[in-house]
Amino acid sequence: MNPIDRRKFLMQVAAGASALTLARFVGAEEAKPDLDPNDAYAMAMGFVTDTANADAEKFPKHSADQSCANCQLFQGPDGAEKGPCSFFGGRQVPATGWCRNFKPKNAA
Ligand code: SF4
Repeated sequence: MNPIDRRKFLMQVAAGASALTLARFVGAEEAKPDLDPNDAYAMAMGFVTDTANADAEKFPKHSADQSCANCQLFQGPDGAEKGPCSFFGGRQVPATGWCRNFKPKNAA
């Protein structure tokens, strides 16, 4: 390989590595932190990490079969222990959780 070919080759390798690094950076989605049940907004929404602990007096429409796992806004895969909630900006909520914004998955 003559010096010019080698320089061209090295520049192409460097450009390729930069492109890969950029693609990895752009494609990376860091998981958001868990939603803190003591967060003021979470509390205002009645968020609990276990649907069994929802306040029945404040939320009379709550039922035990409602949980984050079967809410439209839960973005975790089926069977996941926790996943992002789009209502809370992608913060992680447990599949067993609940809040007053619960929307059943099969509702229109
Ligand atoms: S909006 Fe749905 S997924 Fe999010 S915390 Fe409330 S019940 Fe859970």
